[in-house]
Amino acid sequence: MSNLAPTTTAEPCAADPARPTLQALPGRLTDLGGLAIRRLLPRSQRRLVGPWCFLDSYGPLTFSSGKPMDVAPHPHIGLQTVSWLLEGEVIHHDSLGLEGTATPGVLNLMTAGRGIAHAEETPAANVGRLRGVQLWVALPEASRAVAPAFASHDALPALELDGGAATVMVGQLGTARSPAQTFSPIVGAELRGTPGARLSLPLEQDFEHALVPLSGECTLDGEPLAVDTLYYLGCERRELVLAVGAQPLRALLLGGAPFGETILMWWNFVARTTEEIVAAREDWQEGRRFGEVRAYAGDRLPAPAFLARPVPRG
Ligand code: MN
Repeated sequence: MSNLAPTTTAEPCAADPARPTLQALPGRLTDLGGLAIRRLLPRSQRRLVGPWCFLDSYGPLTFSSGKPMDVAPHPHIGLQTVSWLLEGEVIHHDSLGLEGTATPGVLNLMTAGRGIAHAEETPAANVGRLRGVQLWVALPEASRAVAPAFASHDALPALELDGGAATVMVGQLGTARSPAQTFSPIVGAELRGTPGARLSLPLEQDFEHALVPLSGECTLDGEPLAVDTLYYLGCERRELVLAVGAQPLRALLLGGAPFGETILMWWNFVARTTEEIVAAREDWQEGRRFGEVRAYAGDRLPAPAFLARPVPRG
């Protein structure tokens, strides 16, 4: 997916880890078109959770024709994209010539590294429903120039929990480790809670974590949690206990070691300097570096205007 709400200037993002806390950040509606999109990261109050630097939640949507998801070819650098669906399908095509369809339980993971372009669309064969999340993981300095890659993962580990279960998309949760390639200490999992149950799961105490309820209801420490709100939990928690309400709960757990580098985000790029962003933007506009997404029928997305400004040191 492409960042639909880019600013003309780059945004520095640095870790701001806290002790155990409960910081509620309701999703901000960024698109009023056919597909409602809520931006959950980055936010002015919270830019990173571990290496997680971007989160959009979209749907649920019912449709009978057309393609609610249709993002033309666009470039990425310095990050991994995580496409995860609760309902429906999204097909990915990239400039490596690779293809993969994300469906519930099937992770699409793209490593941009030094540069890749991709397109994402609703395929012609679809169930007429769409609900999902798009996440980005910042690559650390040592890995951010790796060769681009893409993989679909359809055999992710499940972790049975008191009161429910978890599917581990990336990283490790308890004893379950995802086969997906990652580059820094991280966890990303979908939690499912049984109505009326007390759902408890182990957390890595050196990580900072966030919880995003996606459907159903639950409370944490007696406080009701809202869907499509990012709850930053801080570091140093060893477990998470949720009281599931009358409806089944589905939620996203994100975490990782506090990211030790300040990143610079603009459009679909994660960089360190303004010069890198300018170079990547020019390479995209001039048809260099990123290659062509030949499987997509249509024009590619032009880069928005970029206004280079001095970047505060952080
Ligand atoms: Mn994208």
